[in-house]
Amino acid sequence: MKIESLVIHGGVDGDERTGAVNVPIFQTSTYKQPSFGENSGYEYSRTGNPTREALEKLISDLENGYAGFAFASGMAAITAVLSLFKAGDKIIISNNIYGGTFRVLDKVFKNFNIGYIIADTTNLKEVKDKIDETVKAIYIETPTNPLMDVTDIKGIADIANEKEILTIVDNTFMTPYLQTPIKFGADIVIHSATKYLGGHSDVVSGLVVVNTSELAEKLHFIQNSTGGVLAPFDSFLLIRGIKTLAVRMDRHNANGKIIAEYLKERDEVEKVYYPGFSDHPGYEIQTKQAKGYGSIISFVLKEDYDYKKFLSNLELVTFGESLGGVESLICHPASMTHAAIPAEIRKKVGIVDSLVRLSVGIENSEDLIKDLDAAFKKSK
Ligand SMILES: *Cc1c(COP(=O)(O)O)cnc(C)c1O
Repeated sequence: MKIESLVIHGGVDGDERTGAVNVPIFQTSTYKQPSFGENSGYEYSRTGNPTREALEKLISDLENGYAGFAFASGMAAITAVLSLFKAGDKIIISNNIYGGTFRVLDKVFKNFNIGYIIADTTNLKEVKDKIDETVKAIYIETPTNPLMDVTDIKGIADIANEKEILTIVDNTFMTPYLQTPIKFGADIVIHSATKYLGGHSDVVSGLVVVNTSELAEKLHFIQNSTGGVLAPFDSFLLIRGIKTLAVRMDRHNANGKIIAEYLKERDEVEKVYYPGFSDHPGYEIQTKQAKGYGSIISFVLKEDYDYKKFLSNLELVTFGESLGGVESLICHPASMTHAAIPAEIRKKVGIVDSLVRLSVGIENSEDLIKDLDAAFKKSK
């Protein structure tokens, strides 16, 4: 099956017992055990729930993995993956990684002596040089948030395989519709399913896909032991969201291109970060490893323009956290999503105060341009 069909019929397709075309919401915490020492395959919903399982099979199918796991947020998913490591281990991370991922490493896992090394993962030699015997994984996002740096997934996975360490990819920005890291050699794929996978800004959730039975066993043990599981109703919402992933992503891609080109022409804009521009340093790798360029665009306003006024004067585009919804969302990384990253690191990597990040939705692109036009005019 091709992915456009798989998003609708993958995982568990409907309900065998009744013929219902949707997987039922098994709103139950526990299951009756038919007799002593026997069970139906389910014992307790932290350990296993049929609605959650349908979602877990679906994301595993979409990512070409061995098994999937659903969590109560992207951060719960990331925390579960980081729980694979032990004191003394280190993880190499991309230098403009999602702020919350940096925070959990820097403020939580550091206390357990699990360390991190920051690298420019677009530079494979730098990554290779930073690996020593304490490094147990390379953790990347591509394109990165918010500067849209592109990392060569296969290049990273080849290095990791040679050193017998794990490759972990946060695939939130691309989704499996546009990019499937396991095909390039990644071991673990993570999603904040809150974003494009859910797609409707109505559920907070996280997903993990692993590529081997060994990792699946470990991840299930961690999921059951630490307990940050996704609720049955939220699992249902996510399955429903994923059914339209292909059509939504096609429109996101198309709108993203239109808006990126529009922004590039604006006098008020100093710089546009969009991996679909042929002069973007990661353009070739992006074109090789992904089926599109997505709809996240970051841009810097020129000094003479006030980003606060620009953001406050948007009407159709929603000023707020998050991304990947059907509605266009815009945020200010330095004070919002990336506030947890120390100011000097922010500046060094390019997350300046006048940088804004736009998640282009699936509205009519002319309406979006009209709204951006009006806000630019009021930003002087
Ligand atoms: C939002 C996000 C996360 C965190 O996910 P939550 O669902 O908000 O916990 C992790 N990685 C990326 C790239 C994100 O955009």
